[in-house]
Amino acid sequence: MTIDVKEVSEKDKRSVLHPFTHLKDFATGKLGEPTIVETGKGIRIQDAHGNELIDGFAGMYCVNVGYGRTEVAEAISRQAYRLAYYHCYAAHTTDELANLSDRLVKMAPGKMSKVFYGMSGSDANETQAKLVWYYNNLRGKPNKKKIISRERGYHGCSVVSGSMTGMRFYHDYMDLPLPQIVRTGAPHHYWGATPGETEGEFSARRAVELDQLIERIGPNNVGAFIAEPVLGTGGITPPPEGYWKAIQAVLDKHDVLLIADEVITGFGRTGSMFGSQHYGIEPDLITVAKGLTSGYFPLSAAIVGEKVYKVFEDGADKVGAFSHGYTYSGHPIGAATANAVLDIVEKDNLAGNAREVGAYFQAQLKKTFAQLPIVGEVRGVGLMGAIEFVSDRDSKTRFDPSLKVGARISKAARDRGLIVRPMPHGEILGFAPPLVTTKAEIDDIISITEKAVGSVM
Ligand code: PLP
Repeated sequence: MTIDVKEVSEKDKRSVLHPFTHLKDFATGKLGEPTIVETGKGIRIQDAHGNELIDGFAGMYCVNVGYGRTEVAEAISRQAYRLAYYHCYAAHTTDELANLSDRLVKMAPGKMSKVFYGMSGSDANETQAKLVWYYNNLRGKPNKKKIISRERGYHGCSVVSGSMTGMRFYHDYMDLPLPQIVRTGAPHHYWGATPGETEGEFSARRAVELDQLIERIGPNNVGAFIAEPVLGTGGITPPPEGYWKAIQAVLDKHDVLLIADEVITGFGRTGSMFGSQHYGIEPDLITVAKGLTSGYFPLSAAIVGEKVYKVFEDGADKVGAFSHGYTYSGHPIGAATANAVLDIVEKDNLAGNAREVGAYFQAQLKKTFAQLPIVGEVRGVGLMGAIEFVSDRDSKTRFDPSLKVGARISKAARDRGLIVRPMPHGEILGFAPPLVTTKAEIDDIISITEKAVGSVM
């Protein structure tokens, strides 16, 4: 298929409202022409000019099985021919949906019971908030509604999930956050620790702060705590030592539900199937999206734990039907896609690959960049990692944001054939390649990044 690049660019500029894009700079051409992404194979995408790029970010941390998997494309096509759509309201189902749900309940960490489906991580977290409120209403605790999230957490950008997101620029001019959402400190040792404070001490302090916050609001007013096992968009930051154990104890003490937002960490990225397993977290509710279908179809899920679900079922005589759902909840093509993707994840042991190749990736990242005078921290787990650039590593002085160091390095990498992402909150370069990435491909990623850093600094 030949694409008329000029025509597509013009139509795009005329008609697409692009997310997370400076609209004036785009309209005036300062951002250049749109990149028309045409094909993908393995860990690479190709644009309409024939340029090949290594995708060091798996699209948006989602194309875990890599591009161009015929097994998945065939599963989508088969299901579309067989039954393109039917809803799952009022006890309707499909074989793919029932199989997927059974599989997710069995593979998920903790004691899970049921799966509710949406189309995006944002709407799944929106659902989680409603489930927490429903649960506490049914339990006769109508005030237990506040949801605590963390600074720098990312949970989406719809009204509730956007409020859970702990980054101001997602709120400004959008009338967020909602008052039901309360914030606690980020688990970011590098910037958050006091001088000399160890990771363990810092984690303990964060847990005490959470405890004090809950006491201040009143435990009877706090319904849930939502967090990513590994902070993602907030800077790809694994939790400091002892963090999750200390936090979980506070939540248990105050009867506060834990929502593990596994939208990035679910299905292998950390080297374990779920981030919760990697860090010994016992969630009550789990959010998954992205890796569930590797981005081949929009599908998300709120996985509901036994403790929470039992209250729903017991309350049914009182409230009637569970009145929440979307036209596309449990979409049969989404379910068929997820089953085909999870077959690959399991058959090819992609969590194992993320563990093994991830260990190599983390070692190479540290070896190549950690000692540079402009690198404050190199961090990560499995196949997700970050380099944080500072103007002076000894005094931990940040770069002047107007220098746009992260964005320039990312652009320099792209000019050399690699997509890596500049992240908010400083000059951070983020990596999250597909889980099928090999050690040789990691070498390519590291070597291009090294050249890009050298060209800018
Ligand atoms: N939760 C986490 C941890 C995410 O990283 C994201 C997206 O990046 C979301 C939720 C929102 O997912 P979506 O963009 O599919 O709405």
